[in-house]
Amino acid sequence: MTVALDEFLGGLYRSFGPPKQMGESAPASDRPHFFLHRNFLGEQDLAILFNTKRCRYQCKFCALPFKSSREWIPEDQVLAQFKYVLEEDKHALGVLERVTIANEGSVFDETTFPAEALTQITAATRKLPRVRKLVLETRLEFLTVERLREIAENSNKQLDILTGFETVTVDLRERVLGKREPLENFLRGLDAMAAAECELTAYVLFKPDPAMTDEEAWIEAEKAIDYLHEHCAMRGVPLTIRLNPMYVARGTQWARRAEELNGYQPPRLSDIIALAEKKRKEGIPVYLGLTSEGLSDEEKTYRAREDFTRGLLKQGIIMNGDGSVSPRQHLLPITDVSSGAAEPVLERK
Ligand code: SF4
Repeated sequence: MTVALDEFLGGLYRSFGPPKQMGESAPASDRPHFFLHRNFLGEQDLAILFNTKRCRYQCKFCALPFKSSREWIPEDQVLAQFKYVLEEDKHALGVLERVTIANEGSVFDETTFPAEALTQITAATRKLPRVRKLVLETRLEFLTVERLREIAENSNKQLDILTGFETVTVDLRERVLGKREPLENFLRGLDAMAAAECELTAYVLFKPDPAMTDEEAWIEAEKAIDYLHEHCAMRGVPLTIRLNPMYVARGTQWARRAEELNGYQPPRLSDIIALAEKKRKEGIPVYLGLTSEGLSDEEKTYRAREDFTRGLLKQGIIMNGDGSVSPRQHLLPITDVSSGAAEPVLERK
């Protein structure tokens, strides 16, 4: 029996479009975990989750390392992953405006992501003239000015470093999240980024501790955003925040802690939307991380809360696409200390 055309198209859209499943491990070492050509905040983005040796950290809230290899995946296999994605996306290469390179860890950690593969992949993007930006996911401790400059020069692209800042209170970072990233290390990385003229996109968790009330979660997330804003402003690093409602990632220590608590409640999406709106009004570009990347069950995400409706989710999705966090009109959070001006400077990139 032939499949009706609309069913056929619907199936393709679900398999290869935005609803494409993520969270699975790559089937072979020459395949990435995931890739998607997507519209990201108004730009054509090719996002690739490379399949490399797993992240050497085991943050208590994060399930990402579980799906990655314990073994070293050599340069030729990582390059084969890139070529596979390029072949799959070849008819659309001409419209790409940015490329996001991640590996469920740190692409600048040379003990997991082969350095030469990163050099070659980033340099090859020179051949994509419409691509303006490379987004590279990493912990900041792996950054050096020399390496950042090398990649920026060889690719001729603006670099945007994507990192999980998560939260600002030291006790929460260490005891609850197990981040093992002192704030001084983070700031040292930010210094390197400033010297190499990189941009920063930072994840901030809403309700990083399962024991928090909704009000405490709001205060902590706002403090984290303000901290990032202040330190990026001091260094002239353009900042974008991805505000992530915390979800319970299966199999993590954090999940066990949440289960032990009597009456754990995930964050409310309405709070996350309201905080993002507030910070946007202050000039800080914030978008919402609305997916749990296939690592959680629906009843352990914001969808389980009493405020959740389809309409609210739609509001969040519309917010992400409304142009407030625009790649070409980047709100550079710089306050001119000498003039005492408090208004953020709007810079066209
Ligand atoms: S949060 Fe980042 S550094 Fe920590 S385990 Fe997950 S991928 Fe590794």
